[in-house]
Amino acid sequence: MADILDIAVVGGGPAGLTAALYGARARAKTKVFEMGLTGGQIVTASWVENYPGFPDGVSGQELGDLMLKQAEKAGAEFQTLAPVEAIKAKESDFSLVVGDEEVQARAVILATGAVPRKLGIPGESEFAGRGVSWCATCDGPLYRDKVVAVIGGGDSATQEALYLGKIAKEVHLIHRRGELRATQCLQDECFLDPVITMHLSQVADEILGEEGKVSAIRLRSTEDDSEEMLPVEGVVEFVGIDAKSELVAELCELDDLGFVKVDRNGLTSRPGLYAAGDVADYDLKQVVTACARGALAVYHAVHYLGTRVWQWTGDL
Ligand code: NAP
Repeated sequence: MADILDIAVVGGGPAGLTAALYGARARAKTKVFEMGLTGGQIVTASWVENYPGFPDGVSGQELGDLMLKQAEKAGAEFQTLAPVEAIKAKESDFSLVVGDEEVQARAVILATGAVPRKLGIPGESEFAGRGVSWCATCDGPLYRDKVVAVIGGGDSATQEALYLGKIAKEVHLIHRRGELRATQCLQDECFLDPVITMHLSQVADEILGEEGKVSAIRLRSTEDDSEEMLPVEGVVEFVGIDAKSELVAELCELDDLGFVKVDRNGLTSRPGLYAAGDVADYDLKQVVTACARGALAVYHAVHYLGTRVWQWTGDL
């Protein structure tokens, strides 16, 4: 049987990569299991401007690559294209089902992240991949010189509208309220960008198409219910994220939205199980907080392995 791991990290985004770095540096036998390639959601971010140390910004892909290199150099192990299918809690350890294998670990850091939420409107699934998308970086080149709608009013929608503004002919930002949710500097840039047209207090009720491609969206005013048809060739949705917490749904407490409840140190309600990054229930979901929470969780995991003392307060 393979050696038991001290720490199994599930997910190779910024939280998981930082947990791996700190775990390996603490000389804990640490291995990351990543369902795809490492990097997580950050590799889909066109440009990251608020991660300290990069005054000119950095692409999500490059930042993810650098984090991976650093964790590998510290001695963390990695298994990519390795979806964890189940996590079983044993008496004092965990068993992770990875393909045909069962991997034993003394502590687990869940850093599985989140997935983009869908609107669930008519036309959305019909035109998915044929004009409807959830990743501007991945699909941006397809929108060159085209008219695109971005739906949402948070950091993702505004940041990616700005990115698309450099590629597309017109970008229409559609948000359901009169005020955006995004960080003020992103809002300011969007309002100043001549390529971006704001449609505030508007919801998209339907995505329409012709000949298998997106041709328009039907908008409705949340103020007076009036409708308009906006001709567009693409729709990119950024209406929030859903936690990828299914693996631990039976093991620890989740909040009403499905995010894993953690205390301020990343402890969950189950001894030996930690959560960090977008899967956990704290507010500021940024690369810098994912990294910080990954470091904090693994620091406490290492301490737990030495003491087996578990004091979860349930409070952030
Ligand atoms: P978010 O902050 O939750 O914003 C989601 C946006 O979609 C909100 O404006 C929301 O409207 C709108 N929305 C939600 N459901 C909707 C629906 N059914 N119909 C129409 N609109 C709907 O999500 P996010 O922008 O994806 O960001 C997720 C997390 O990642 C956040 O913590 C964010 O700060 C972080 N992030 C950070 C950066 C960065 O630092 N550069 C970049 C990207 C993301 P309301 O405002 O009315 O609720």
